[in-house]
Amino acid sequence: MRLLPERYRLLTWISLLLVAGFLATSIASYVVSRDAIRQNVAEQTLPLTSDNIYSEIQKDILRPVFITSLMSNDTFVRDWILTGEHDTDRIARYLKQIKEKYGTVSTSLISAHTLNYYYAGGLLKTISATEPRDVWYYRVRDMQADYEINVDIDMANRDAMTIFINHRMFDYDGNFIGVASVGLTLDAVAHLLENYQTRFHRTVYFVDREGNIKLAGKALKDVHDPIGRLPGIADVADKVLNDSSTPIHHEFQRGDATVLMSSRFVPELNWYLLVEQNISDDVLPVQRVLYLNIAISAIVTLLILGMVQLVVRRSHRQMEAVAGTDTLTGLLNRQAFEMVFHQAMLDSERRGTPLCAILFDLDYFKNVNDAHGHLAGDRVLRDVAGIARGAVRENDIVARWGGEEFLVLLKDCPLQQAIVIAEKLRTRIATHDFALQGSDLLLTTSLGIAEYAQRESPSDFFSRADRALYQAKEKGRNRIAVSQPPSQPTSPSAPPTTRDNG
Ligand code: GH3
Ligand code: MG
Ligand code: MG
Repeated sequence: MRLLPERYRLLTWISLLLVAGFLATSIASYVVSRDAIRQNVAEQTLPLTSDNIYSEIQKDILRPVFITSLMSNDTFVRDWILTGEHDTDRIARYLKQIKEKYGTVSTSLISAHTLNYYYAGGLLKTISATEPRDVWYYRVRDMQADYEINVDIDMANRDAMTIFINHRMFDYDGNFIGVASVGLTLDAVAHLLENYQTRFHRTVYFVDREGNIKLAGKALKDVHDPIGRLPGIADVADKVLNDSSTPIHHEFQRGDATVLMSSRFVPELNWYLLVEQNISDDVLPVQRVLYLNIAISAIVTLLILGMVQLVVRRSHRQMEAVAGTDTLTGLLNRQAFEMVFHQAMLDSERRGTPLCAILFDLDYFKNVNDAHGHLAGDRVLRDVAGIARGAVRENDIVARWGGEEFLVLLKDCPLQQAIVIAEKLRTRIATHDFALQGSDLLLTTSLGIAEYAQRESPSDFFSRADRALYQAKEKGRNRIAVSQPPSQPTSPSAPPTTRDNG
């Protein structure tokens, strides 16, 4: 009783230590890797993407600014306006050439003097201060800066973000004489958005100051709500729309996924540029490594436990062999018994005194283990050992033969007396209360008895006892069987005689 739980306690402690150690290192390395990925995405990947797109936009904007500046300072254009805007074909040809050379969507000119709107096809119209579509001209006329950038979506095709540059023109004395404009598509930017989406699973889009999505790849094309009303991102919408032109990063949950986002204000467009990445996907491989680590740790723990169990069991067995006693019952073990038996056999032969053995085995003992557990089974074995010791004289020998089999050696005891003792043993065990809770199971035993015959070998002697025991089991258990001495003429093949338990 003492030894087994102690062994289990050792195993429990070892497994606790191993599991705690393995778990701690696995989880620590998972957390470190996950945080490294997160930090890398937040502080490098997303800002870099944002920078790339931003510089692409600047490049795209620089071109039309350059074109309009070229137009406004062209002496031909200025002279043409200053000399009275004669021959519309000449200016139309000029605008057409600019349009073709730079691949612009539109090229136009408005004269401050006549308010005529010229384009590549000639004179389009005369603008008016009361026409809502023309108010932009008066805005440009009165502004301080040389040019303004105006971004519009081509309604016919949501992909084409069109950027208009309106440049103020002056005569040689610095008087305002009109506005030169070009429109260009930001195709390169739109292309980049799609590219980041498909290649890096990064979502890139622009929102205006109110959070409405203005330009996005396929993923967000059909989203019409402002970000303040979209699940997940709504939590950080206030922080996104904060005018910061240096990238800042945010983290939010969208469903099961953790999303990292970088946002910055782009003053040239008056929009925010948002780049987001689903970090859960990036952490997935690290998570897989964690599970693998845990699985390997579990296997290693089991292997170590198995080895420890083996070593402990072997050392117990060695200790038992050295001590000569069985650790569970305190009885002699089989090795020690064999030495003691040798002495008893010599004594019996020398003195001519009878020597008897009772070999007994508990009936259906497996049921006890199955129904009440191995520890209860052990307790029963110790009780049985006590009953056996109590049923014989001090100098008789009781040994644990193996498992739930015991051997009692009765010195200077004739067969008739051995039968009486065996019967006593059987009755005591059958009537003993083994305190097996919740069970009315009666524990019984079968016993085989043999008297030692002169010059019989020990193995023959014990085989006879064993055969008698087998006979008792065969006849229905809870009974004794007696082996006939081998010297009698009928004995070698003669079966042992059994006695009923009545
Ligand atoms: P029967 O002998 O009547 O044929 O049936 P049984 O159920 O006793 O069958 P068997 O002899 O085959 O089974 C012996 C059982 O005793 C199986 C084994 O697990 C159990 N046993 C052996 N040694 C120990 C032990 O040290 N402790 C415990 N608890 N059980 C043991
Ligand atoms: Mg048995
Ligand atoms: Mg057995």
